[in-house]
Amino acid sequence: MTNADPAAVAARRRTFAVISHPDAGKSTLTEALALHARALTSAGAVHGKGGRRGVASDWMEMEQARGISVTSAVLQFDHRDRVLNLLDTPGHADFSEDTYRVLAAVDCAVMLIDAAKGLEEQTRKLFDVCRHRGVPVITFVNKWDRPGREALELLDEIESEFKLKPTPVTWPVGIAGELRGLVDVRDPGHLLRYTRTPGGAKEAVEETLTAEQAAVAAGPEWEQASEELELLRETGAVHDQEDFLAGNSTPVFFGAAVSNIGVRLLLDAVVDLAPAPAPRPLLGGGERPVDAAFSGLVFKVQANMDRAHRDRIAFVRVCSGVFERGMTVTRAATGKPFATKYAHSVFGQDRSSVETAYPGDVVGLVNANALRVGDTLYTGARADFPPMPTFAPEHFAVARPSDIGRSKQFRRGIAQLDEEGVVQVLASDRRGEQSPVLAAVGPMQFDVVAHRMENEFSAPLRLEPLAYSVARVTDKAGAEALNLSRLVHGEALTRTRDGSWLALFPSRWQASAFEREFPDALLETLVAAHE
Ligand code: GDP
Repeated sequence: MTNADPAAVAARRRTFAVISHPDAGKSTLTEALALHARALTSAGAVHGKGGRRGVASDWMEMEQARGISVTSAVLQFDHRDRVLNLLDTPGHADFSEDTYRVLAAVDCAVMLIDAAKGLEEQTRKLFDVCRHRGVPVITFVNKWDRPGREALELLDEIESEFKLKPTPVTWPVGIAGELRGLVDVRDPGHLLRYTRTPGGAKEAVEETLTAEQAAVAAGPEWEQASEELELLRETGAVHDQEDFLAGNSTPVFFGAAVSNIGVRLLLDAVVDLAPAPAPRPLLGGGERPVDAAFSGLVFKVQANMDRAHRDRIAFVRVCSGVFERGMTVTRAATGKPFATKYAHSVFGQDRSSVETAYPGDVVGLVNANALRVGDTLYTGARADFPPMPTFAPEHFAVARPSDIGRSKQFRRGIAQLDEEGVVQVLASDRRGEQSPVLAAVGPMQFDVVAHRMENEFSAPLRLEPLAYSVARVTDKAGAEALNLSRLVHGEALTRTRDGSWLALFPSRWQASAFEREFPDALLETLVAAHE
């Protein structure tokens, strides 16, 4: 394999993420996909989440307690002759910056919608991120085994709210809650019927009925579905690969992840429709072909995933060439070499050494203290991928060690969480090193900080919320202007780890007032997470 042509191997890779509002069924679907593809050899590989089965990608105590995904894992499995890499995204809005980073590392997203709820707040935000990043979206309408909304109405909602043309690839026969089966739109003369085996196997069994058999088995519903399909064809709601890849349309699938209904068709869609790894744009123009020398993007850094090892893992998406464990790569930010002696594939809590990885794959580099989120690694010709945008923080708090005797651990912990991107740490000219300002996109990030400081660094802290909600980047001139007007507008001046200035304001209104007074002082370089 080592000498395999990276372009040929990459063509077999599908790297994607599932995005959804919490509770739409992301964990259930992830599990169903992986089980379907036989990645999990037994249910024993799956462990608990809040008292019920969860996917192997939930590993932090806190995630389990809260039933949310704080950290991301990667599942790799085969389907047909393809290798699928499924990257987990945190479900909660407070971790949208992490989600953004994960979406920078995938080639496609599956947008999961609850049939009864339709588009929800977090679906909207995550979809915006996909659109912003140009990630094509496949839609899966889940929970069709329960009463819910009408299929056509859900399509209308996608079209009007997302300006995205829905093109069903499967269509439900029977309303939500009374599913008689699915039609594969490409083969409208057959009904795929799902029946549960007596004795209670969880997964429904799929069988194919002819049109005649379907008319007998599901008379009126079959007729109605046939009419709806006719209508969809007439209105041109038909999958078009180019449109989909350009982000103008989304192929839509229906099913019920919990009973494995429609999951195979979704997996087939990931294989057949989702794009393979493509050349990646470089900073300053041009792109890195898939078969160039190795390059990779660090999209996540996570410390202490394994209590026994106490190390730091950098998750790297391979973008071009072949990754081989032990190779020395260059970190574009510094031009310094980085040895990849300890490379792992990361699957939930389990690790196994990875020897070789290809474009689309994710490797975990252990002992990666020198690496940061957004880093480009490469061999051969220099590669620099565009930096990850920083989200504008909206929540601020001063952190202080609860126990002054543990100041050293406090400083070390805070610095590490800053480097991992768990929270942004700001130095203030008016506050010392023992009381940095923490800045977050969502307040739950503070909970993660408090939890990890206490449990990993044995340095419990106190957090005092600050009354700021707006951060704007500024420069030296802006900093001087801010110093002049500090008393007038009540703002504060802080510096990030890389030395840039951030001005904090209590409200947008105060930021605008300052801007009117000093029109050149503020620089717009942050992405707003909550527009
Ligand atoms: P997540 O928060 O998006 O990861 O959602 P979960 O996978 O934890 O699912 C939330 C709840 O919805 C759980 O109680 C699941 O059992 C349930 N659920 C998931 N998929 C389905 C489905 O297809 N049908 C039904 N009826 N319930 C489902």
